[in-house]
Amino acid sequence: MGNNELDQLRERVDEVNLELLRLINERAQLVQEIGHVKGSQGVYRFDPVRERMMLDKIKQNNDGPFDNATIDHIFKEIFKAGLDLQKDDHKKALLVSRKKKPEDTIINLKGENIGDGKQHFVFGPCAVESYEQVATVAKAMKEKGLNLLRGGAYKPRTSPYDFQGLGVEGLKILKRVAAEYDMAVISEIVNPADIEMAAEYLDVIQIGARNMQNFELLKAAGAINKPVLLKRGLAATIEEFINAAEYIMAQGNGQIILCERGIRTYEKATRNTLDISAVPILKQETHLPVMVDVTHSTGRRDLLLPCAKAAIAIGADGVMAEVHPDPAVALSDAQQQMNLEQFDQFYSELIASNFVRI
Ligand code: PEP
Ligand code: MN
Repeated sequence: MGNNELDQLRERVDEVNLELLRLINERAQLVQEIGHVKGSQGVYRFDPVRERMMLDKIKQNNDGPFDNATIDHIFKEIFKAGLDLQKDDHKKALLVSRKKKPEDTIINLKGENIGDGKQHFVFGPCAVESYEQVATVAKAMKEKGLNLLRGGAYKPRTSPYDFQGLGVEGLKILKRVAAEYDMAVISEIVNPADIEMAAEYLDVIQIGARNMQNFELLKAAGAINKPVLLKRGLAATIEEFINAAEYIMAQGNGQIILCERGIRTYEKATRNTLDISAVPILKQETHLPVMVDVTHSTGRRDLLLPCAKAAIAIGADGVMAEVHPDPAVALSDAQQQMNLEQFDQFYSELIASNFVRI
């Protein structure tokens, strides 16, 4: 074969490559259009029956030299790429995604900018039990220059016979302590009907792990102008977590802090398994600040400090942990809350670690 002939054949191959490229992209565009139509009709995008029909038709027309198995393989790849494109298209549209908004969302709470690249800390008791109990923790925090106080007024407990929280009384205590110590307060709300009322008392509405997919609650939290701290569900995937945040933002409220708090796995050494890699994934995929709750993820006091360090090292915007003046008599989570002395030690060791910026 002369060189000239080879060059000509290669030239033809180059032309065919470009023709294939054009056709593949033309097909992709059509698939995208189909995706939009299906999306607006609420129809599921993957249609195996239709794929089977397309493959059969292609193979019926296959005159070789490729055999049918090879043609099957090549076209299945093309179909799959088309389906992925439809999915990406959908992701692109998420309001919480980086694709939609490349800049970090920053949430101002009492002069602290959550999401600004520094670390922010939320401490306080598991449950609000009394004014004195909350004020004691608030005082210890304020002495350290800490401004973000937590405390549960509505406690979604595993057992209906366990302490359920003080309700509105608890919110009132939080508001009073916050005013006296000039702090921002975060507390969980469990009932969509309470959201507006609670917004009068709180600086941040927390949606707890057990309610991450309580869609009516998410929508109610999305309809107010108040920051929301959304915790990851006990067995929620990152995608489900991101979609839960999307429920809030879709209603107009983009002030959302995501909180990784451990997920349920087969591991029994810890209360839950802290999914530390969720932090950089959430930071990459969304523009929202991400915190790590080291108390509920580990359920172990001896793991609070190493896990808090890990959270910060991996890029978390903040850490949450529970502090109680006398954990032994706490009405909830007695096992895992820090007392004031342990809190002192935890916080001083944490900020001494060289990667903390406050
Ligand atoms: C809490 O933070 O008080 C709490 C109950 O946590 P979670 O919803 O993560 O279990
Ligand atoms: Mn707790």
